Amino acid sequence: QVRVRFAPSPTGPLHIGGVRTALFNYLFAKQHSGTFVLRIEDTDQTRYVEGAEDYIVSALNWCNIPFDEGPGKNETYGPYRQSERKHLYKAFAEQLINSGHAYYAFDSSEELELHRNDYEQKGKTFIYNWHNRGKLKNSISLPNDEVQHKIANGDDYVIRFKSPQGQTLHLTDSIRGNITIDTNILDDKVLFKSDGMPTYHLANIVDDHLMKITHVIRGEEWLPSLALHQQLYDAFGWKAPQFAHLPLILKPSGKGKLSKRDGDKLGFPVFPLQWKDPKTDEISRGYKEDGYFPETMVNFLAFLGWNPGTEQEIFDLEQLVKEFDLTRVHKSGARFDPEKAKWYNHHYMQEQNNADLAADFKASKAELKDIDVNYIALVVELIKERATFLDDFWGLSHFFFTTPAVYEEKAFKKAIKEDTAVILTEVDKIITDINDFSKEAIEKTLKTWITENAIGFGKVMMPLRLALVGDLQGPDVFDIMFLIGKAETKKRIALLLN
Ligand code: GLU
Repeated sequence: QVRVRFAPSPTGPLHIGGVRTALFNYLFAKQHSGTFVLRIEDTDQTRYVEGAEDYIVSALNWCNIPFDEGPGKNETYGPYRQSERKHLYKAFAEQLINSGHAYYAFDSSEELELHRNDYEQKGKTFIYNWHNRGKLKNSISLPNDEVQHKIANGDDYVIRFKSPQGQTLHLTDSIRGNITIDTNILDDKVLFKSDGMPTYHLANIVDDHLMKITHVIRGEEWLPSLALHQQLYDAFGWKAPQFAHLPLILKPSGKGKLSKRDGDKLGFPVFPLQWKDPKTDEISRGYKEDGYFPETMVNFLAFLGWNPGTEQEIFDLEQLVKEFDLTRVHKSGARFDPEKAKWYNHHYMQEQNNADLAADFKASKAELKDIDVNYIALVVELIKERATFLDDFWGLSHFFFTTPAVYEEKAFKKAIKEDTAVILTEVDKIITDINDFSKEAIEKTLKTWITENAIGFGKVMMPLRLALVGDLQGPDVFDIMFLIGKAETKKRIALLLN
C-alpha cells in the first residue's frame, strides 16, 4: 500500500517548485492506488506565516490534486500539523539517547561562536562532530548526573544526533541511484530543543514512520539531509521509505535556481495563486489570477523534470497518472520556461467549455453586462483559437458587441480604394435582399455576386471587414455578419461610406 506525503512548512506561499513536488507525489500515489497525505511541518514557530496553510490547501485544490489525508480530512494518522503533535517527539529523542545514538549538549551560542572563530583563524571550519564533540566541555563528555542536574536546573539544551566516525553509508534514491557517504564529513545535527520542539529532522522521520509513509518524494534541497535521515531510521530500527529527490527548477536563462523573486523581476508568476503578504500587504502574482488554467499548471509542471520519452507534450491529469514514471525523472536541473506555460494555456483554452468561458468573460467586462451569455458563447467559439488568456477576449471580439468607432489607420489605407464606395453600396443592397440571414446564405450570395461580376475578392472583403471590425483582423467576415445581424451590418457599412 503506497503512502506518500507532501510536507510543506507554512512559511509563506507555496511556489511552483512546491506545487511540482505535490504533483509528483499525487501522481505517484494515484498510479499505485495509494494515499496522498498532506502534513504541515510547522515546528519552527518563528517562521510561521499567517494564511500559508490555507494557501497551500487552496493551491492543491485549484490544481485538482487534493490530498486524501491531512488536516481536517480522513485523520487516520492525525493530527497532521506537527505543532499539534508536539507532545509526541520528546520520547523518541529520549529513545535515541538511551540507545546511545544521541546526546544532550548545553553549549551556549557564545561558546560555539568562540570555537568557530578559533577554527576560522586557523583557516579551518568548525564541524560539530566526532572530531570535536569530545573536546566541548558542555557536551557529550558531561557525566550523566551533571546532565540531569542541568536539566532539572532548567538550563537550555539541545539533543544532538551522534554521527558515527569512519563509516560508509550506502544510500539509494530512485532518481539518483546509489549514493555513498563518508560519515566523517557529517555533523551532529540537532534533533530536539529545550523549548520542547523537535527540529525538522526528528519530526519529519518520526512522522513519516508513524504515518506509514512508503515513499518520500521531495526537492533536491533535501538531498544533503538524506544521510542523517537514513541513520535515524537505522537508529530507531525502522524500515526507511524509498527516497526520490526531484531536480532543481532553474531560471528561464538556465543559470541558477529559480527564486521567488524571479517572477517579479522577469515578469511571470512563480506562485500558483495570488498571495498577499500579511505583513507588508505586498501582492505577488498567481497563475490562477493571471488567467492560466489548472490543466496548464499541471501539464507544464509535470514536464519540469520529467518527460514521457516521446514527442507527446499534452497530458491531462488522468494521462499523467497513467504515464508518469518516477524513475524517468532526471537528475539535472529543469529549466523553467514561462513561454511554454503560455503555449500550454493556449492549448487548454481550446479545450474549455464555451458556456463557461462566456460566463467568465461576461463577468470580467462591464461592457457585457446586458449581453446574452448565449450570444457571448457563440462569439467565444469564433475567437478562442487566437486567445491564450481570457484577458485576450475583448481585444479579439469587441466588434461583436460595439460598433467600431475608429478605423485603424494602416488598415484603412490598405482597404479603401477609389471604387470602394460603389462596391460597398452594392453590397449593402445585396445584403438588404437576403431574407434568411444565415452565415451560409450570406456567404453564398456575396461570393456568387463577386464571381459573376469578376470584382476581385479582396476589393469587397477588405473594406467590408474594415467596416465591420474597424481593422483588417478578426474571424470570418460571414460569421461576423451573421452574429451581429443584418441591421447592424448595414449600419456599419453606412458608417464607413459616410
Ligand atoms: N518541511 C519540509 C519542506 O518544507 C519537508 C521536506 C521533506 O519533504 O522532507 O519542504
